[in-house]
Amino acid sequence: MNSEGLLMVISGPAGAGKGTVVKELVKDDSIRLSISATTRAPRGNEQDGVEYHFLTTEQFEKMIDEGGFIEYAKYLDKYYGSPRKPVEEWRSQGKDVILEIEVQGCEKIKKAVPDCISIFIMPPSMEVLEKRLRGRGTETEENIIRRLERAKEELPLAEKYDYVVVNGALEDCVEQVKEIIRKEKQK
Ligand code: 5GP
Repeated sequence: MNSEGLLMVISGPAGAGKGTVVKELVKDDSIRLSISATTRAPRGNEQDGVEYHFLTTEQFEKMIDEGGFIEYAKYLDKYYGSPRKPVEEWRSQGKDVILEIEVQGCEKIKKAVPDCISIFIMPPSMEVLEKRLRGRGTETEENIIRRLERAKEELPLAEKYDYVVVNGALEDCVEQVKEIIRKEKQK
């Protein structure tokens, strides 16, 4: 029997509510969230080692050269990547691992780990998406506009994912994702 944990990719445009959904999922002790590295600046109360590992471009590129990422991509001119070591360790301990990453990263993971499960969290509408992004109060207007433009590019890519879940009401969305995980684990 293969007791290796699942690798799950969760994507969706900024403001779709992926972060909130993921926070609910990791309340289950068998699920771990990979903490990504990024070269973007911390936002609001974000702390190094909690939301992200905040790295300089030099540090990030060194880690790329050393093969330290299972995937990495550029999003709005900044690097984002998933450190390889914790993901491999957790999976070998039988923990399911979530990567909350954008669409290019998902493409790379699918090639590297073909049995991963990909879930796209879809906002109910562009209006709701914009409201949620503005409601964060941590973004500059320029960043909000860039994220909304990026969202328009990302939404059509949802069809490449194994599952698409609309995040209208948080509880329903979380329940649907949990159901997907249960189903996949039975396979
Ligand atoms: P944010 O700046 O809003 O925290 O994240 C911007 C985008 O980068 C989001 O879509 C987020 O899911 C994605 N992201 C976060 N970490 C990673 C990562 O390690 N790899 C990739 N490819 N995308 C990431």
